[in-house]
Amino acid sequence: MSMLMHAYNRLSFSPSHGQGAWVWDENGNKCLDALGGIAVCALGHAHDAVAQTLCEQSKRLIHTSNLYSLAEQERLGERLCGIANMDRAFFSNSGAEANEAAIKMARLYASAKGVENPQIVVMENSFHGRTLATLTASGNRKIQAGFEPLVQGFLRAPYNDIDALNHIASNSKNVVAVLVEPIQGEGGIITPDAGYLQDIRRLCDENDWLMMLDEIQTGMGRTGAWFAWMHEENARPDVMTSAKALGNGVPIGACLAQGAAAELIKPGSHGTTYGGNPLACAVGLTVIDQIESHDYVARAGVLGERLLAGFRQNLASYDSVVDIRGKGLMIGIQLDRPCAVLMENAIARGLLLNVTAGDTVRLLPPYILDDAQADEILVKVSELIVDFIQQDGPEPQ
Ligand code: PLP
Repeated sequence: MSMLMHAYNRLSFSPSHGQGAWVWDENGNKCLDALGGIAVCALGHAHDAVAQTLCEQSKRLIHTSNLYSLAEQERLGERLCGIANMDRAFFSNSGAEANEAAIKMARLYASAKGVENPQIVVMENSFHGRTLATLTASGNRKIQAGFEPLVQGFLRAPYNDIDALNHIASNSKNVVAVLVEPIQGEGGIITPDAGYLQDIRRLCDENDWLMMLDEIQTGMGRTGAWFAWMHEENARPDVMTSAKALGNGVPIGACLAQGAAAELIKPGSHGTTYGGNPLACAVGLTVIDQIESHDYVARAGVLGERLLAGFRQNLASYDSVVDIRGKGLMIGIQLDRPCAVLMENAIARGLLLNVTAGDTVRLLPPYILDDAQADEILVKVSELIVDFIQQDGPEPQ
């Protein structure tokens, strides 16, 4: 019997090592990784430059403390803010913690404005993490159940509905911020209408709200732009969070801010032991170097187009395929029925993927895929879905 808490239902594949887009188990079975550790391993597995940085930095300095000025943290802050067009960074160890920092900043913002019972607008069907504040912010009852009382100060709105936000602006006086994913990842790769973020920016300006974007899954090049908000004009947020691909598997998160929002956190208002340690930051710098020097942001966009076009060609004629959507290497294929079994079926065929929101196959592959590997994912996923639909028969009425 496992001595681990039963926090996860584990799949049958037990990874032992990886190389590039491939992962092996101890028995030599190999899987092509179309999930990349859920949008984390953008550079694939056992990446030479990442391994070298880990090795060299760990021989120099892994950790001291945020009591001291840390050169790697300063450098990563500068690089990341440069890329994201932000003014300041706060580093954490995970995505949820990056969002916690953002939520705390919204509270500080409210406090500075003298708003006593501040509210942050959050979306239905969203996911922001598993800490108490971030699970409260998430629009998914399943991850909240049993953890009541939840954190106060969140107001729920439908996603991709600017009228609903306008209505809140007219009727709710205590709102101080909006927290939103540019594309909902866990929620099923839900892409909003063009102009949605722009409209949120305008609304935030008109009402003196902080615009806060959760780019934990969408960020670091995945959608074909460094951050997903960059696909739109005039959509620059006040606060944004990043994690996942930033460390390629080494735990790191970042909360970035610009303008007045960047000055909210002062000594004593927030902190962490490990956040921004030299090891994680050195890896973050290497990840950025690699993405930049190989032009992986553009590559993610090109590969995404190739995959989306291929899936539309292979699957669009099947009635059971409800939708094929996404941006860059963030792709969802929604079926007309629950399909979680496909995660196990895929393993049997040498492929790692995820099913989210119950009925949506989710692909978040590494950016280092070559064309042949992308085509292999295309063929394998298409066959997997077609076989599933045909064996399972039509959806019962
Ligand atoms: N926000 C988004 C959009 C995510 O996709 C995730 C993780 O899936 C998180 C936050 C939480 O990140 P972490 O699991 O690193 O705490």
